[in-house]
Amino acid sequence: MAIKTMPEKLKRLPELANNLWWSWNPDARATWRMLDYPLWRTTVHNPVKMLHEIDDETLKARAADPAFVRHLNKVMMEYDHMMGNSDSWFVSNHADLVDKKIAYFSFEFGMHVSLPIYSGGLGILSGDHIKEAGDIGLPFTGVGFMYPQGYFRQKIPSHGWQESHYEHLDMEKSPIELVRDENGNELIISVEIGDQTVCARVWHVNVGRANLYLMDTDVEQNAPWNRELSARLYGGDVETRIRQEIMLGIGGVRLLRALDIAPEIWHMNEGHSAFLVLELVREIVAKTGCSFHEAALQVRPKAIFTTHTPVPAGHDAFSFNLMDKYFGQYWPQLGLDRTGFMNLGAHEESWGEAFNMTVLALKMSGAANGVSQLHAEVSRNMWQSVWPEKKEKDVPIIGVTNGIHVPTWTALPLEELLNKHLGPDWMERHDDQAMWERINDIPDEELWKIHMELRTKLFEEIRSRTRKRWSAGHRDATQVLTTGAFLSTRALTIGFARRFATYKRATLIFRDPDRLKRILMNPHAPVQIIFAGKAHPADDPGKHLIQTIYNIAKSHDWGGRIAFVEDYDMHMGRYLKQGSDIWLNNPRRPREASGTSGMKAALNGVPNLSILDGWWVEGYNGANGWAIGEGIDLDDPEAQDAADAESIYRLLEEEIVPLYYDRDRDGVPRGWVNLMKESIRSNAAKFSMRRMVKEYTEQLYIPAMKAE
Ligand SMILES: *Cc1c(COP(=O)(O)O)cnc(C)c1O
Repeated sequence: MAIKTMPEKLKRLPELANNLWWSWNPDARATWRMLDYPLWRTTVHNPVKMLHEIDDETLKARAADPAFVRHLNKVMMEYDHMMGNSDSWFVSNHADLVDKKIAYFSFEFGMHVSLPIYSGGLGILSGDHIKEAGDIGLPFTGVGFMYPQGYFRQKIPSHGWQESHYEHLDMEKSPIELVRDENGNELIISVEIGDQTVCARVWHVNVGRANLYLMDTDVEQNAPWNRELSARLYGGDVETRIRQEIMLGIGGVRLLRALDIAPEIWHMNEGHSAFLVLELVREIVAKTGCSFHEAALQVRPKAIFTTHTPVPAGHDAFSFNLMDKYFGQYWPQLGLDRTGFMNLGAHEESWGEAFNMTVLALKMSGAANGVSQLHAEVSRNMWQSVWPEKKEKDVPIIGVTNGIHVPTWTALPLEELLNKHLGPDWMERHDDQAMWERINDIPDEELWKIHMELRTKLFEEIRSRTRKRWSAGHRDATQVLTTGAFLSTRALTIGFARRFATYKRATLIFRDPDRLKRILMNPHAPVQIIFAGKAHPADDPGKHLIQTIYNIAKSHDWGGRIAFVEDYDMHMGRYLKQGSDIWLNNPRRPREASGTSGMKAALNGVPNLSILDGWWVEGYNGANGWAIGEGIDLDDPEAQDAADAESIYRLLEEEIVPLYYDRDRDGVPRGWVNLMKESIRSNAAKFSMRRMVKEYTEQLYIPAMKAE
């Protein structure tokens, strides 16, 4: 079934639906709500699906409605202006470099809930990066995978042990288009993986001005097990993983060649794509017959690598046996023998020496970075062995602190309030710190009112999800309770949502249950906590943490003040980070490389209560939220947990709860609203994706573009 035939006056709607730009432009977003609000809700904000399912009567009615047509025309003018790209930051400042294309490789891209090809932080960072790169006019092309089954959907039965379900994505009703060759056939690229040739078709996604290409191995030419290769994100064993990484790195280069895109810069977002440097070397060796080292001298200055985690298990390493199996045919083409090849990635893992993707990426790129200043410092220590001749402080891994795409993560009502007080063009200048100083001009009452509105939206969303599943017979009463039926619309609400990895210590706040109960159940100043997050399907300790919280949520003596919201994704994430009162983050230092959910909360006036780890080391200024502990690391993890929990309780009892409930006669908590303003003022520009992408451009991309 194709999309409906559009009336003449609405003929550009499909074009708008097929560029994810609509999702971060408020006027464009409004178009879909105006077109058919119930359908907008039932399709979970998927305009392509809407255009398949909308009825002809509605289309006719909108085409006959001058207000709608006027609105659409205005949106399309904005769209054409955006696509024109004549006055963007990069074009205005670096006109001589606009032909130097940047290819950005990532395993996952989180751009919108209608395209579920992300699992969490890394994917959303890639999604935000590609959006912003287009916004500021960089010649930017993303490369990744189309996962027909995406990442899993989470369900929690009443026993609390997470279940994962995979849903098949309806490609027709997604914002993607199949890439065809000049004869109109599916464009197919192929890569030799071990002793087989694996083919992939290619999907194209319009991300504002930027382009994203996604490989999909579910094609007839492939053997059944190869068709499944890109079925799911992080669903397989280590052998699936190496095959996926060969496809991403080597297949990705071939894909760009097939499309006749000639990147100047190759950016590897995490080590997953690092095989791409080998393919670039192979091309040069094949063409010129030069040695590996001569070819590497050409490849290295153009390759950039970003590492994302200080947790050793987060860095892929493959046994030499596996490397023999998959690269035995390949290394002779690089002009290397086995030893020379293995040396490119050789690294001592906890289980023995292996081929480490981060080592390969570091050795073969001209510049590398970590994702916060602390993370860069930790990475210099972690990877010093790659530069045995250098002192730790001279290891060339710089810090470029993560950011978030402000148009994507600003709540709409807040955006409108800022239009009024910072000026209607504030969004165009959102990385200008001076502009944010004017936030203090906003009357307290107005900001508080918006916050109350966002809180209400959060509770309504939670209830409506639960109600839907209850009505469909998928819930028992316990599950209704645990997903938040007893949440109070008045109580101070703590939000905690992230992947359930053990180092994030989701259960830390329950360390002294009696003390926490006293805080939550205070009749004059009640507090409640909303949890959300998925554990990796293979991470049983992570699932245990979920179960522990789930059991607390359903036990009578916690009085319904703890909720666990299922299936955390970008959609639920927006509600949580915009509608909570404070955002809690208590990882074990220094494992949180950056963290970005706290930035999203801070931007929306939700202050952080966080360990001084990752971005918060740079974000916390003493007046814009709270620091748990003092940034001192104890050797004994037990003692560390005790100290950090004590700090959380003390802050809640002595500072947070009293400040929140200190209301004037209008019911406005003046001190709290001041804190909200300070949270926005001090964090919005500094942790914007715009600041981040400009930093990548100036510190990494431009020097690489100019390098010989
Ligand atoms: C922002 C975001 C993340 C990343 O948050 P962290 O703070 O890095 O854990 C993960 N999942 C979703 C849905 C997000 O929106």
